[in-house]
Amino acid sequence: MGIITRGAERKGGKELQYIASLSYGKDSIAMLEVIKQHNMPLDRIVHVEIMATDTIPADLPPMMEFKKKADKIIKERYGIEVEHIHNKETYEHHFYRRYMRGKRVGLIYGFPSIRAPWCNSDVKIPELKKLNRNNIAYIGIAADEPNRFHNLTERKISPLVECGVSETEARKICEELDLLSPIYAHSARGGCWFCHNQPIAQLHLLRKQYPEYWALMLKWDNDSPVTFKPNGTTVHDFEQRFAFEDAQITLFEKEENT
Ligand code: SF4
Repeated sequence: MGIITRGAERKGGKELQYIASLSYGKDSIAMLEVIKQHNMPLDRIVHVEIMATDTIPADLPPMMEFKKKADKIIKERYGIEVEHIHNKETYEHHFYRRYMRGKRVGLIYGFPSIRAPWCNSDVKIPELKKLNRNNIAYIGIAADEPNRFHNLTERKISPLVECGVSETEARKICEELDLLSPIYAHSARGGCWFCHNQPIAQLHLLRKQYPEYWALMLKWDNDSPVTFKPNGTTVHDFEQRFAFEDAQITLFEKEENT
């Protein structure tokens, strides 16, 4: 693949727009810089805002703060206002939807599955699909992530792949621009605070730092007809484990101080 030039700007009489999809992770932010450095066309920058409930965003408070800061820098540096697209449907709303047919008719959906997560297909992707129809989408996939290349098409382009920018280089670009998301201080991945894919250490941190969100996870766990993890582990199992581990640490600290 070569560097993108403005070639196919009109499709069916309509002007194509080049739209960068921003997650605020290192790859999508570095992608904006690569677009600028290589004079690639860019018309809009969009971010799909996922809500956990009607009032709680899917991102943790430090991430929400970072987004505000990043929006300001992006506007100044690239001259484009980030558009925040709000999906009216929340994660919780979808969680409590009921199957209308099939083996599970009448049951609520509960936690998404790992292989076909409805949170992605039903909450996040539809908004992006609507937007990217008849446009060119830029997505943040790094040059050393070949397992994600199947997502790329003629109309779904990765500037990082086009320009051979790796994940490490993407991180460096963000650091230099003071645009590295706070999620990298504690983990390698971002995503929703209730995500079933997150590492155990991240769940433990959630319980410690955001007990009110953890309480919501426990409530959902009570109601879900499927377990949080596909191996049968529930949020309550993690609750027991974390409570035990924290008690051990407290005991150890007490013994150390006596
Ligand atoms: S980060 Fe996790 S919970 Fe959020 S949309 Fe992606 S898969 Fe679903």
